[in-house]
Amino acid sequence: MNKALVVLSGGQDSTTCLYWAMNEFGHENVSSLSFDYGQRHKIELESAKKVAEIAAVTHEILPIDTFSVLGGNALTDNIDVDDTQEASHASQLPNTFVPGRNLIFLTFAAAYAYQRGINHLITGVTQTDYSGYPDCRENTLSSLEQTLRLGMEYAITIHTPLMNLNKSDTVLMAEKFGAMDAMAYTHTCYNGEQPPCGHCQACLLRAKGFAEADRADPLVERFQFFQD
Ligand code: ZN
Repeated sequence: MNKALVVLSGGQDSTTCLYWAMNEFGHENVSSLSFDYGQRHKIELESAKKVAEIAAVTHEILPIDTFSVLGGNALTDNIDVDDTQEASHASQLPNTFVPGRNLIFLTFAAAYAYQRGINHLITGVTQTDYSGYPDCRENTLSSLEQTLRLGMEYAITIHTPLMNLNKSDTVLMAEKFGAMDAMAYTHTCYNGEQPPCGHCQACLLRAKGFAEADRADPLVERFQFFQD
């Protein structure tokens, strides 16, 4: 049986992947997993929970508190998100980069999958994102897949349906697979604001994608509805 596990952050991309997986593997074969890694904005986890509820798939949250102990990034520390995209370190990466995060998430997800006889992992990483996170690139993911296969002696496959899509293609994929209702409850804003702040890099990128796809963002519409 082809069972699949979606790493669900509560954002636009992982939500799209959840619906992609339901189409690909069959609704009854899909489950979802989120990580409480000490992110400043707990709204991410609430969004993930809500999205899983709307999609009617099982959802679990695993705690990993080591990233917040390590510190040094804007997603777990109380420091400003670098809107200028200028690197705060010699690494030339924006300070929203959490070193090792995707590698650890997928390794834990693989362990979780192994124990449940799940052979397919799905993650919403994309190498077309503006940030250039090295752990979102195709070569990193295929190398990790190989490492997990070797290290667990288990046929695990990592699927990255959004890897080479731009944000407007992702919006159209979400629509195609029926993710728009859940999209209204996703969370993207780096500043953790709801309604979204509209000016951080994450909000701008999301808005650009919906504009280019010529679609209204269900999240923005949800708050407009309440304002009227
Ligand atoms: Zn924002």
